Amino acid sequence: MREVEGKVVLDQNEHLNLKPILEDGKFKFKCYPGISCFNECCHEIDVILTPFDVLRMKNQLGIKSDEFLAKYTHLQKLKGTDIPLVKLKMHDAEDKKNHCVFLCEKGCTVYESRPAVCRNYPTGLATQDPNSGESSNPFFIIEEKMCQGHFEKEEWTVDSWKKNQGVTELDELSKPWMELVARLKSCSLKDASDQKMNFFLMACFDLDTFSNFVFNSSFLQKFKIDEETTQKIKTDEEALLKFGFEWLKFVLFKEGSFQT
Ligand code: SF4
Ligand code: SF4
Repeated sequence: MREVEGKVVLDQNEHLNLKPILEDGKFKFKCYPGISCFNECCHEIDVILTPFDVLRMKNQLGIKSDEFLAKYTHLQKLKGTDIPLVKLKMHDAEDKKNHCVFLCEKGCTVYESRPAVCRNYPTGLATQDPNSGESSNPFFIIEEKMCQGHFEKEEWTVDSWKKNQGVTELDELSKPWMELVARLKSCSLKDASDQKMNFFLMACFDLDTFSNFVFNSSFLQKFKIDEETTQKIKTDEEALLKFGFEWLKFVLFKEGSFQT
């Protein structure tokens, strides 16, 4: 049900048993209600959210992004950096086990909008040094002792698994965000002010506040934004998120299409 989201989160999960995928690219796995380990993987875990996860989950719940962040998430810095990541809260349940805030006896209560991390599990994406020239398969399998899904017979490739779990489109949408994080990680960020990191957090995760900032401040006077874009981001939250990524490129790196 869950996974570590490759480049961004891998460093936070060094304790997991990670196995390379076989040369033919196939692995066996099945997860279903009724399997003996059902729900066990939703305990004591780091579920790091992408901006699109937050957008979809807050909309399924019918709440604003600031309420979602306050109620259901913690902030955590990406290891060795000041980059803020958003992580799902774990309950302190009576059985003394921590489990995801969205877990109930029947399973995941936000299954329809469950995070990319949960959809991708048990596959993960390894960090590769772009300068190393290596072209080996960057994917791996996460094997945890409690997970019985690995003993099932159903066979997958990473692609067929991603399609089955509805994560292919999410991966595509998240690319600009992953690139921003990778870029931030590669800079020393010594000159990154708290304000820049707050802008990063707001534009990526607190979309309702970002919308308010764009439409109810001097933002639209300060930047040259054409009328078509202005109208689009008023009503289309995915477009607003992509617009926010572009704005962050300007704020953080003085790059991209934004003009004052
Ligand atoms: S969001 Fe759903 S699938 Fe993911 S850890 Fe929480 S309960 Fe499990
Ligand atoms: S099979 Fe694995 S992923 Fe599915 S419920 Fe069991 S532990 Fe979780």
